[in-house]
Amino acid sequence: MVLNFMGPPGAGKGTQAKIVEDRLGIVQISTGDMLRDAVSSETNLGLEAKSYMNKGELVPDSVVIGIIEERITKPDCKSGFILDGFPRTSEQASALDDILGKHSLKMNHVIYFDVPDAELIKRLLKRAEDEGRADDNIETIENRLKVFQEKTKPVLDYYDSKNVLKKIEGTGKIEEISQKVSEI
Ligand code: ADP
Repeated sequence: MVLNFMGPPGAGKGTQAKIVEDRLGIVQISTGDMLRDAVSSETNLGLEAKSYMNKGELVPDSVVIGIIEERITKPDCKSGFILDGFPRTSEQASALDDILGKHSLKMNHVIYFDVPDAELIKRLLKRAEDEGRADDNIETIENRLKVFQEKTKPVLDYYDSKNVLKKIEGTGKIEEISQKVSEI
């Protein structure tokens, strides 16, 4: 099963992906986590990605497409995976179609977690206090929300036109939201 969790920063994609990972035994693939690992281990990839991430800009398509292509061929992806934070541009979405096609896979469900901006900003500022992520500060948050509108919204429209998009209200209790995910 191939699932894709989409939504603006702070929408709860990662939280819900981890719940599904435990429940269904399929792995979560978070490009954000992979990039942060690369940044902290100071690999060439990390050095390239860091400046984009700290500004709340997207890392270039070719870089993240390469990461995903390599990741999904690993043995732990055999029974499926949950994409969290990829694709974020139309180019990434069409590259993903090619990659899935090459492995005779198809996208089963794309779930969009819809959360109002004011709530997102509140959550991300709270996360800044709890986790101290470098990109959780007000300027970067505002840019990430803008980038979502400009670059990632078209990807939602694309999946909607293919009838695989399901929208969930991402506000409320974590368990209530995961219940809605389970129903899908
Ligand atoms: P959030 O959804 O809260 O912004 P992520 O952990 O998914 O957090 O992403 C953090 C940053 O990593 C993004 O702002 C961007 O710089 C980079 N990134 C993650 N995924 C992608 C992607 N698919 N394409 C380009 N950049 C990405």
